[in-house]
Formats: sequence, C-alpha cells, structure tokens
Amino acid sequence: MTQQIRTRFAPSPTGFLHVGSIRTALFAWLFARHNGGVFVLRIEDTDATRKVEGAVEAIQEDLRWLNLDWDEGPAVGGKFGPYIQSERLGNYKAAAEKLLAQGAAYKCYCSQERLENMREFQNKNKLPSGYDRCCRDLTEDERAQKEKEGITPVVRLKTALQGQTVIHDLIWGDVVFQNNLVEDLVLLKSDGYPTYHLANIVDDHDMEITHVIRAEEWMSSTPCHIMLYNAMGYAVPQFAHLPMLLGSDRSKLGKRHGSTSIRQFREQGYLPETMINFLALLGWSLDDKTEIISREDLIKHFSLERVSKTAAIFNHEKLQWMNGQYMRKLAQEELLNRVMPFLEKGLPAEINRPLDINYVRQIVPLIRERISTLKDAATYASFFFLDELEYDSEMFVGNKMTAETALKALKAAEEKLSALESFTQGSLEATLRPLAGDLGIKTGQLFNPLRVATTAREAAPPLFETMAVLGKERCLKRIKAALAKLAGN
Ligand code: GLU
Repeated sequence: MTQQIRTRFAPSPTGFLHVGSIRTALFAWLFARHNGGVFVLRIEDTDATRKVEGAVEAIQEDLRWLNLDWDEGPAVGGKFGPYIQSERLGNYKAAAEKLLAQGAAYKCYCSQERLENMREFQNKNKLPSGYDRCCRDLTEDERAQKEKEGITPVVRLKTALQGQTVIHDLIWGDVVFQNNLVEDLVLLKSDGYPTYHLANIVDDHDMEITHVIRAEEWMSSTPCHIMLYNAMGYAVPQFAHLPMLLGSDRSKLGKRHGSTSIRQFREQGYLPETMINFLALLGWSLDDKTEIISREDLIKHFSLERVSKTAAIFNHEKLQWMNGQYMRKLAQEELLNRVMPFLEKGLPAEINRPLDINYVRQIVPLIRERISTLKDAATYASFFFLDELEYDSEMFVGNKMTAETALKALKAAEEKLSALESFTQGSLEATLRPLAGDLGIKTGQLFNPLRVATTAREAAPPLFETMAVLGKERCLKRIKAALAKLAGN
C-alpha cells in the first residue's frame, strides 16, 4: 500500500497573510488534493514576541475566503491535534530532553551580550557568521558552575562538524550543504519555548507529514532540520522549496510593490477565484501558455515537476486583467451579490442605504465589462445613485458644440422625453435619433450633452440603456439641472 500523502501549511500568526504565504498554502493544498491526500493547517506561534492578536482567526478567514479547506487543524480538529504549537509545548520539551540525553544537543549559557560581541567580531573580521560553539564542549564542572550562577541556558543542536548534508529536493534536485557551515541552532529558548526549528520538525513528524512544501527562504534551515530528524530517529520527509516571489523590479516582493497581504486584495475587490488562478501561476504552469485555469483543472493537473526554480514575478497588471476576466465569467446574479457589499461600503455617504437591489441588478450588466475589480463598481457607478451630479459645464462644449447648441439640444430632448410614456432603451433610441435630424445637428451633438447631463461623464455605458435604467424622473431632473447650469453661463 502506498503511503497517504500529507502536506501542511504552517503559518506564524504575525499579521495578515502575505500573498507569498498563500502561494505556499495553495501549492501544498493542490498537491494534497491532486493526490487524494490530507492537507493540514498548523499554527506556529512559539515566538511570543511576533504574535499578533486576532491573527490566528484572520488566517482561517483568509483560507476560507479562498476556499482552501483543511482536513485537520484549528476549528476542524484531527487525530494529531492540537494544531496550535503553543498548546503542544510538552512535546518540544520532551524532544529537547531526549536530544540532550543522547548528546545530540547541549546547553548554552552564553549571554546576549557575549553573542552580540561575537557577531560584531565576526562581521568586522569577515568571519563566517553563527554561533562559535563556545558552550559545546563544556565539562561537567563548568556546566555545574554556570548552573550555580543561576544562568538559564538555551538548548542548541550539536551539528555534525564534518561531511555533507544533502537535501533531495523535489524541485531543486540534490542540494549539498557542507556540515561545518551549519550553525548549532537554538532549539529551546531560555523561556522554555521551542524555536521554529525544533517545533517544526517535531510536529511534522508527529503529524505524519510526508511532503514539506515551503518557501525557498527556508532551504538554508533544512540541513539543520535533516540533522534533527536523524538525531530524533525520525524519517526525513520529502522537501519541495518553492521559488522566490519578486516584485516587478525583481527585488523580493514587499510593501513598496503595493499590496502584499491577501486581505488587501480582497478589500480591493479581487475575486478569490482570480487569486487562486493567479497565485498558482507564480512558479507553476500548465503548459507555459494557458492563463485562465479553473480550480478543478488546477487540482487535476498540479504537479511539483512543473514547479520552476526561477523566481516568479508578481505582476499587478496581469492580476487586474485576470480579475476582469473572472468578473465577466460570473453569472449576472452572482456578480450582483458580490458587488452589493462593495457598493454599500464604497458609494458616497450621502446616498441612502440600504441600496435597492433591484436597481443595482439593472446597473450590473451595464458596468460589468468596464470594471476590473468589485471595488471599481463604486467609483464607476456612483452617478447612478447620486442626487446631484457634479461636473464642469465645459464638458458640454467641444465636438463642434457651443454652450448655446448644447442648451438647444437639451431643451428639445427634455420636451420629447417628458412626453414619453415608456422609457426604455428602444423608445429612447426611437425618439432621440430622429430628434438630432430635426434639429439639424449630428447625433453626437445631441447624445454628448445628454450623456454629460445624465451621467456627468464623457465615457459611460451606452447612453440609451443607461438612461432607461436611470428612469424618466431622474433623467429629466438631471437634464433640468444641466439646462440651469448652461443658462447660468
Ligand atoms: N512558520 C513558518 C512560516 O511562517 C513555516 C515554515 C515551514 O513551512 O516550515 O513560514
């Protein structure tokens, strides 16, 4: 029987999830789903100094929003729980004691001050950085003396000083590290909390993780982890280190490149479907050309073999384009439901709430081709809701128009429209097109001032449909306001 594949996402609750973390979660999730395996969510919260209130809940909320479901972890439980490291401290302590007892780890009594001086010295003299192993070979007596002084030690891994450690990485192939360059990392801190390194390998073992899929930046810690697995007598899992994410200037993706947390993209009106598709292509591809790939197809085709070693560039324009594609694919009613909260939140405060969903239902088809995020809807469609439009009367002029001809055109339109019984796209077109001819002006010379008067924009959705949605009363009120504006000039 082949072993069941188990992957995990192990975020630290230090704030809103970075899109890079979500990319890691997604690849681990896809790998599990493709292989009929198990996807575990584990919270790595052993660094109390970096913990942020509410972050554990926020992580879960973001994953749920993306529909990245976990089979074991907070909120769903599982046979290896608890899945929050601060609730598993006993396990790490026991592991550290075991390593101490078998001589694979040692207690280090060095003060912060000594460590700082050491780092400074190394920097100044261009020596390799890392702990100088000062406490590694203390005698029993020396150790007893330190204990007597009341110094609380940390526990460090006794790394191999000779030979090599090879990572058989599923993406990078064999990566060789010289053991003498691997630092004697701290496993247990003086407050009794484990470091990431210890807690991570103890849990990956206890939770029977078969594939550790994580960001490339962890590669340099992996030799130490392999030594730890070996010292603990644990089987070493498979590793896959995902390529770096870079901004458009090819530096590490960070705040200066714009939004970086998944929450920001959500608030800007990107769809979860878009984010999944977009992030999947940061380092993986189906065939080097397909851009739009459904969740089902991602699951069907995902493989680590097609993950590239080349750093992936996060291209905001492409994301925006892709979001537009996904918005256009949504069924009308679905798009309506998603747009509603953005309009409720984003439209100017003076507009009455709650909005009339039936009115918005008519607006959505008119704007869907013209916006690329849900948030854009509020900016783009505000004229549908405002009581009074603001615009410059200069907008009437141009297109071989003077304020006078605009006034004349609008006045004639007002008259015709007041008499209209049915105010539909068809009736508007049948009334207004001939009117231009009657007035001896070009259609544009009639439609442009009408567009400005009813929408306050030069570019808006098709005029007759827009006016039909606005309705007779609103249109006439706006035309009257435009006439007053023009007459005042
Ligand atoms: N807690 C680590 C992080 O926040 C997990 C790294 C790993 O997956 O091993 O990225």
